[in-house]
Amino acid sequence: MRKVAIYGKGGIGKSTTTQNTVAGLVEAGKKVMVVGCDPKADSTRLLLGGLCQRSVLDTLREDGEDVELADIRAGGYCKSLCVESGGPEPGVGCAGRGIITSINMLEQLDAYKTDTGEALDYVFYDVLGDVVCGGFAMPIREGKAEEIYIVCSGEMMAMYAANNICKGILKFAETGVVRLGGLICNSRKVDNEREMIEEFAKQLGTQMIHFVPRDNDVQRAEINKKTVIEWNPKCVQADEYRALARAIDANKTFVIPKPLKIEELEALLMQYGLLN
Ligand code: ADP
Ligand code: MG
Repeated sequence: MRKVAIYGKGGIGKSTTTQNTVAGLVEAGKKVMVVGCDPKADSTRLLLGGLCQRSVLDTLREDGEDVELADIRAGGYCKSLCVESGGPEPGVGCAGRGIITSINMLEQLDAYKTDTGEALDYVFYDVLGDVVCGGFAMPIREGKAEEIYIVCSGEMMAMYAANNICKGILKFAETGVVRLGGLICNSRKVDNEREMIEEFAKQLGTQMIHFVPRDNDVQRAEINKKTVIEWNPKCVQADEYRALARAIDANKTFVIPKPLKIEELEALLMQYGLLN
């Protein structure tokens, strides 16, 4: 089973990209579980056709420790398996802890297989924000995720966050198994974005695994509570997500990243931003 985590700045498109990519994988016959690691609990909405009814933390709060796998895991599009960690009530407690509790719970419940006991091909962790807080670093810290993809765009703050996440990966890669699989550029239509992110990836020692165009079909599918692939399998954007799914499936390039110094990051932005 490949253990993948998707990181990136808030709002960059982690949950959208994760679910659309997973739709591409399950459509191709892969067995995949998605674990939402964001207190918003919206990492599985498009696969489930609506928000997950109960997160792991909700279930623990309401039912106590005696939890069964069926209480916290639901089947979504094309037999995808969906779990949401959830979070504490707003203003109370640490959101990062929810992730730790959830992953431990999934392990206890022997959840890394299908309902009929078959091995999974993939688990995807969709993780909030950057890795400054220990709880959110947990998937990479404790070897729960071995393969990281960072969603970014050509906007400065998205690249800054991606670079920070690389620092987090570097910290744990030397003693552990975690590696960077690549950057997913989720386009914000910034000038020279593709070339800039390709160069950024190169400087980090990795690759841009796919350039996902910005497309309003993503919103149209989202309003219908579906991934693009389910909503309109023939549209151009559906093929973009299939291409990303294939690229991840075929990926063999896993590296310990070399984060940039802030001056290097700024130089990159200057160089490509002023090209026109
Ligand atoms: P995150 O999980 O990183 O916080 P989301 O996946 O929730 O971000 O995405 C934020 C918004 O961006 C969503 O409402 C989604 O519709 C939109 N979005 C993401 N990717 C694209 C894209 N390629 N084209 C158009 N809209 C997108
Ligand atoms: Mg999200």
